[in-house]
Parts: sequence; structure tokens; C-alpha cells
Amino acid sequence: MRRKLIAGNWKMNGSLAANAALLEGIRAGALNLNADLAVCVPAPYLAQVQTALSGSAIAWGAQDVSVHESGAYTGEVSVAMLKDFGCHFAIVGHSERRSYHGESDELVAHKAARALAGGLVPIVCVGETLEQREQGQTDAVVTRQLKAVLDAVGTQLAGIVVAYEPVWAIGTGKTATPAMAQQVHELIRASLAQRDATAAARAKILYGGSMKPDNAQELLAMADIDGGLIGGAALKTADFLAIAQAA
Ligand code: PEP
Repeated sequence: MRRKLIAGNWKMNGSLAANAALLEGIRAGALNLNADLAVCVPAPYLAQVQTALSGSAIAWGAQDVSVHESGAYTGEVSVAMLKDFGCHFAIVGHSERRSYHGESDELVAHKAARALAGGLVPIVCVGETLEQREQGQTDAVVTRQLKAVLDAVGTQLAGIVVAYEPVWAIGTGKTATPAMAQQVHELIRASLAQRDATAAARAKILYGGSMKPDNAQELLAMADIDGGLIGGAALKTADFLAIAQAA
């Protein structure tokens, strides 16, 4: 039985004051949960999160990481820097990075490999746009995005978390039905199993896309949905904890 992981993606939201209240609420409510929790926060707030969550069971991470190790890469944040602030996770390949920052499958794959090599767990996002779904390309797109990452991480595949995030469901209030999500999660697990059956059986595959307290339970009940990557609902203590309780 895979333990569920509920990871918040705060995106570019927050302030010192708002974060303090949110982190305190999550920390207080996280006791006795039957799921792992994590928050992926904007880089400037990592020190605050490290202080607020140290000694708790809640992990934290970043929303992106540089593909470079160090050097003249203005604006970039390296794996080692994230490790300095106690990060466990780094999201890579979120659709907002792919579409607004032109991140290719290859770049995402190299970021995942760099994160792994430096001791972070990459949460690798894959997912199709509405147009791609309507044209019947969902499986091909997800398989292509995943293949790039699997080729890059090689035998280290056990160290990654995959998040299936249909682009049309992110921040839109539209959610994939449990059956739609399960079909893609099954495909992802099968792709992992072609490389390493043991790792595939253990791998956490999260669903992301307008997961909320009122739809979390039915999504998380599906055989291959091992948790959630939560955007909007991760900014509200009660909603985030309600999703974690549904797990
Ligand atoms: C996300 O950004 O990863 C996400 C799933 O957002 P939302 O829950 O707001 O759809």
C-alpha cells in the first residue's frame, strides 16, 4: 500500500504574514494524519518555511530548480541552494513553466536528473492541454513528456514523484473525473514498469488540477492515484487539511 502524499504548490502567492498563519495552521492540523504532507513555496520564503516546519513531519520544497550547478545564471536557484534550506522536493516541468517559460521536455528532464543527483526528490509534472485531449493525444503527450525524464534519470527512477496535471484542469475549477485521471495514472505506471517494475509499484503518482475538499476523496480512492499536487486549495489551511484528511 502506497502512503499518500498531499503536496501544496503555492505558485507565486504569499507574504510573510499570510505564510506564517498558513504554516502554523497546517502544522497544528497535520498531527495524526494518515498521509504525508509537503508545501512547495516561492524561493524567497524557504527560510521562513524551514523555521516554521523544522521538527514537524511536513516536508517542503521549491517550485522549480536550475538545470545548472552554479555560476553565471542570473535569477536561477540551484539544487545545492535548495538543499541549504532543507528542501526535500522540487517541482519540475509544471505546465506554467512549460508554457510561460518555454521549458522543453529535454530541459525538464535535465532538471529532474539534476535534482535527483543533488539529493532532491523531483515532482515531475506531465499533462495534456485541452486541445491535445480533444484531438485524442493525451496518452501520446504524457508518454512523450515522461519518456524524456525517464531517459534522463535512468536507473534512478525510484527517486522521482510524477504528477499528472491535465493543463485544462489547473486553476480552472474543471477536474478530470476519477476515471479519466485513473486511466492516465495507469498509463504512467505502466511506462514506469517498462523500465523498473519494482520502482513502478512503489512510485507515487499524484493528481493535480482543481483538487478540492469536495472532489479529493473520490480521486484519491482510485487505485493509481497516490496523492495530490494542490494549487489554489493549498493556500487555505482548512481546504488543504481537508484534502489531506480525505487521503
Ligand atoms: C497546480 O498548479 O499544480 C494545480 C494543480 O493548481 P490548482 O489546484 O489550482 O488547479
